[in-house]
Amino acid sequence: MISRTLSACLDGFSGKCVTLEASQQNSLPQIQITGLPNTVVQESRERIKSCLAHLGFQVPTRKLLVHLSPAETKKSGSQFDVAIAMALLTLEGFFPSKKIIKTAFLGELTLSGHFKAINHCIPLLEALLNSAEVEQILIPSENEGDASLFNSPRIYLCDSFQEALQFCFGESAPQKLRQPRESKATPLSPTYHFSLEDLRAQPVAKRALTIALAGRHPLLIEGPPGSGKTHLAHCAASLLPPLTPSETLEVSRIYSFLGESRGNNSFAPFRSPHHSISASAFLGGGHQQVLPGEVSLAHHGILFLDELPEYRRDALEGLREPLQSGEIHLHRISKSICLPAQFHLIAAMNPCRCGYAQSSQHTCICTSEAVTHYRKKISGPLLDRFSLYIWMTSSALNASERDSYDHTTAKTLVQRARDFLKDSCAVSLTPSVQRWLDLLQTKHQMSFRRQKNLIGVARTIAAFEEREAIIETDLEEAWSLRSPETFR
Ligand SMILES: [Zn+2]
Repeated sequence: MISRTLSACLDGFSGKCVTLEASQQNSLPQIQITGLPNTVVQESRERIKSCLAHLGFQVPTRKLLVHLSPAETKKSGSQFDVAIAMALLTLEGFFPSKKIIKTAFLGELTLSGHFKAINHCIPLLEALLNSAEVEQILIPSENEGDASLFNSPRIYLCDSFQEALQFCFGESAPQKLRQPRESKATPLSPTYHFSLEDLRAQPVAKRALTIALAGRHPLLIEGPPGSGKTHLAHCAASLLPPLTPSETLEVSRIYSFLGESRGNNSFAPFRSPHHSISASAFLGGGHQQVLPGEVSLAHHGILFLDELPEYRRDALEGLREPLQSGEIHLHRISKSICLPAQFHLIAAMNPCRCGYAQSSQHTCICTSEAVTHYRKKISGPLLDRFSLYIWMTSSALNASERDSYDHTTAKTLVQRARDFLKDSCAVSLTPSVQRWLDLLQTKHQMSFRRQKNLIGVARTIAAFEEREAIIETDLEEAWSLRSPETFR
């Protein structure tokens, strides 16, 4: 006799449906698992034996073989515990095996039979929900936050193995099990409480940030210490519109690889990794299991790099691919894995190591060679990718007057421009703008990317007024906020 049930495993950056088959052999009582299980899966034998003994089942009475297919995919994680235990009980004849053929189980068992939360729940659920074979899925109640994102009537929450048995084999089946409800939003971190109103007399900086967020243009902020660069960047977190349901799912899916549950939180991620971060933590990587890096954790949100020249060169150069394509490819020995990395880049830097080059109030203690060396750490191609650049001065901090640019206005502008740009695909230039652009091109020999960035920024500025056509003032403002071609 063969008993059969379903579960799922991780394959690279997505889930895969796994079929479990169990059979008996006339040999000494033991449980054997095949199908490339790792140590955690192998150890499930001991957890299952203890759990079943605790519930009064004497298993195994003979040699029981459990095979996890597809055989060539490596199996890792503790999510197979419940499925294996179910397959063994039906094989030993305690319950009818046909009742669990179309049921998938995800869950780790404690020695006393309680369900424990599993990692990577979102990709595993995705794989099972996409499979026509699966009629219902039982998962630990602790994973409710992840499950609530799918809004599927096929998912049931369970606290213990006893409950799962009653659900699958109970007389009055199906026994009522709870289904995922929309989870409560977690409180926002302090990053989301920064306000533009706390920055005084910095209208250009605030305007540049608004344009950057509205058009998703990379922004570079330069200035001496204490000029408000970090504060300005942190304001970005609360200026972004909330994520759409599909974006929320994409972001939560990435975080589930780190064992973090974001649930239904629709606020855009804000990541600000320290400059000492390794290239693999920054871009993604790992040996046994691929883990998303900061560029993927910032997907659909902000990646803020403070003190840009201090980051490792390989990390910074690795930014070029995701900035271009919104994805990052991690090359492993066996295959290449693609992770989403559509972040909005904001970077800040001092003009030199001491921070006071070009300052009228402090004396810079760096040699001119040291200043050049410091700024040259940002390569030309990377600098080219910043569509917007601003210089912030600390003198503005002393200004007592407030400018008219408040947080709510900026937020409204970002939302309005994004809505407008979503629906409009054409870029239209008036003849005079085209002439001016040709003139700039002849005079400054702009690269194709720089020209594209310039038009992109001008288009965003036009979108603030819900205008299709770019006019001269749009281009003029975009030109005034361009990044330098090289740092000297
Ligand atoms: Zn200096």
